[in-house]
Amino acid sequence: VAVPNLGSGTGARRGQPPDAPRSRLRGEPAAIERVRALLPGPPRGEIWIGDDAAVVAGAKRLLLTTDLSVAGVHADLDLIGLDDLGWRAVAGAVSDIAAMGGRPGPVLVAVAGPPSVDLELLYGGIAAACAEHGSPVVGGDLSTADQLVVAVSVTGAVPAGRPVLRSGAGGGDRIFVTGPLGAAAAGLRILRRHAGRRGAVDGGPGGTDGEDDGERAAVRAHRRPVARLAHGEAARRAGARAMIDVSDGLGADLAHLADASGVGVRLERVPVASAATEEEALGGGEDYELIIATPDPDGLVESFAASGLEPPLEIGHCTGDRAERLLRGRPLEPTGWEHPWG
Ligand SMILES: [Mg+2]
Repeated sequence: VAVPNLGSGTGARRGQPPDAPRSRLRGEPAAIERVRALLPGPPRGEIWIGDDAAVVAGAKRLLLTTDLSVAGVHADLDLIGLDDLGWRAVAGAVSDIAAMGGRPGPVLVAVAGPPSVDLELLYGGIAAACAEHGSPVVGGDLSTADQLVVAVSVTGAVPAGRPVLRSGAGGGDRIFVTGPLGAAAAGLRILRRHAGRRGAVDGGPGGTDGEDDGERAAVRAHRRPVARLAHGEAARRAGARAMIDVSDGLGADLAHLADASGVGVRLERVPVASAATEEEALGGGEDYELIIATPDPDGLVESFAASGLEPPLEIGHCTGDRAERLLRGRPLEPTGWEHPWG
């Protein structure tokens, strides 16, 4: 989901937007800034609106995040099932806990929709995703409405050390991703293609997924993404300085991290998922891989290995020039999904 927890992507701390003066903000970031200005800001030591999840004081530090999924905006129910929509809503919210290096706790789910909505199917997907991620639904709300909207709020905690923010990267840090990118966007493209010629391949909800292993994996990545919780924890333990999940697209989300950290980025390579294009890897969101910046690349690789994870993939490094955004020496566009707020 595009911008969870009202995360602005500018990474602006309250009262000091680093790279984006208000007057230059447009669309969704501007709308988020308007909302942020209407609400009180956090006390020292807490992070509220502006990162992947909120960090608040309590008996221990809690992570809090919420995500909206709207039928027709975040999910096309002609292409995927209601159970898939429910799964994706949970995975997208939990992913923001992963992006802080945290462990998810109890989940709240609020659903508004037409009385005809198949709640069993929807909550079947929600429950399956919650089981997959080890975070139970402990409450929520239900209402009828014209349009189906699912709001998932996830709590979380960091068992030791500090949460990994977007804003901690420094010049010289190496940049990694936890896996190849673009699979979810490719999966959506494949589902759309199949929907255009039913009969050749049943690509509808509950149908056969794709024509080869790469396509099937891509369709699964779109329907049933999984938050990289173990990766986020391994990165935190290895001393990663900044992290964000790829919910909007590599170009957009890396720009969010760089803006928040006040660093430039030079990318040398973009790992592209099987069945995906480089364009999908750069601009397609909802992969939920993590982008990690670290001054200790060897430690990161060792930590992943110790956790039994595939090695992280190095894609480039941070620079001290906060205006720099390069991919193989050419301008890196912050492509990715944004809600068209006025
Ligand atoms: Mg995020």
